[in-house]
Amino acid sequence: MVNVTVIGSSSMDFVVTTRVRPGVGETVMGESFKVVPGGKGANQAVAAARLGANVSMIGCVGDDYYGQVILDNFEKNGVVTRNVKPVTGVPSGTAHIMITDGDNNIVVVKGANNHVTPATIEKALEVIQTSDIVLIQHEIPMETVEYVSQMCEKYGVPLLLNPAPAAPLSEDILSRVTFLTPNEHEAAELFKEKHLSEVLKHYPNKLFITEGKNGVRYFNGNEEVVVPAYPVEAVDTTGAGDTFNAAFAVALAEGKETIEALKFANRAASLSVTKFGAQGGMPKREQLEEYLN
Ligand code: ATP
Repeated sequence: MVNVTVIGSSSMDFVVTTRVRPGVGETVMGESFKVVPGGKGANQAVAAARLGANVSMIGCVGDDYYGQVILDNFEKNGVVTRNVKPVTGVPSGTAHIMITDGDNNIVVVKGANNHVTPATIEKALEVIQTSDIVLIQHEIPMETVEYVSQMCEKYGVPLLLNPAPAAPLSEDILSRVTFLTPNEHEAAELFKEKHLSEVLKHYPNKLFITEGKNGVRYFNGNEEVVVPAYPVEAVDTTGAGDTFNAAFAVALAEGKETIEALKFANRAASLSVTKFGAQGGMPKREQLEEYLN
C-alpha cells in the first residue's frame, strides 16, 4: 500500500435545490435539502483511501457537531485522522449551496480550515517524511501551501498541488511543486494567458490541465498530449476534479508512468460523475478495476 498524505480543507456541504432563486429580502420554498461531507482536502483524502492508498489527512475541524461528523466520515472511509485537529471556539468549515436549474450559488465559510497553518504542519512532519506523495489544494492559507512546498522539497517527497480555487502562485511554489493540476478556468486565471498550450509548453510533465468531459492536457517533453476522459452519462460532476487528483496521486505513488496514471485518473473521475454528491460517486478500487476491463 502506498502512503498518501492529504493536506487541506474539510467541510460540511448544505445543499438545497429550488425552482426559484430568491431575490433580496425574498423567501421562496425549496424542493430538497441534503447535508453531505465535502471540502477539497477531505474529498481527495476519501477518494484516495477508496482507491486503496494508506491515507493520512492533515487538517482542522471545529469544536462543533459537524467536526465530529467530518471525523466519523474520515474513519468510515479508512482515512487516518491523527493529524486532524479540533480547534476550540471555531466552527467547522461549511459550504452553503443553492442549486436552481442546474446552476449554483455557493457561500463558503472557511471556519477551522483557516487554522491549517504552518504550525499545524510542523506537528505532522513525520507523516510528510514517510509519504510517497503529498496532495494539497488552495482552500487553506497560502502560507501553508508555501511551507509544505518547502518541506516536500527538503525531504524529497513529490508534491501534487491542485490549485483550486484559483489564487496567485509565487514563482517559488511553482518551482517546488512536482505536479500542478488546475482546471481550464484556474489555469487561465493563474497564468493570465488565453492560449493554454503556450503555458503548458513551459511546464512539460509538470502542468496538467483538466478539461471536464474532454479529459486532461499536458506536454510530454515537447509533444502536446490530450488524454481523453471516458464517455459516461453525467449525473453530478461535483468532485470530479477531486477524484481525478486523488487517483492521479495514488497511481503516481504506485509508480505508474505519467500517461498510465492519467488514464487511471480519468477513469476514476469519469466514473465519479455518474452518481450524486462529491463523495457519493467516488469509486472503490475494485469497482475501478472492473470498469478498467
Ligand atoms: P469539479 O470542480 O467539478 O470537481 P474540476 O472543474 O476541478 O471539477 P474538471 O476538469 O471539470 O475538473 O474534471 C476533472 C476530470 O473529471 C476530467 O479530467 C475528467 O477526467 C473527469 N470528468 C469531468 N466531467 C466529466 C464528464 N462529464 N464526463 C466524463 N468525465 C468527466
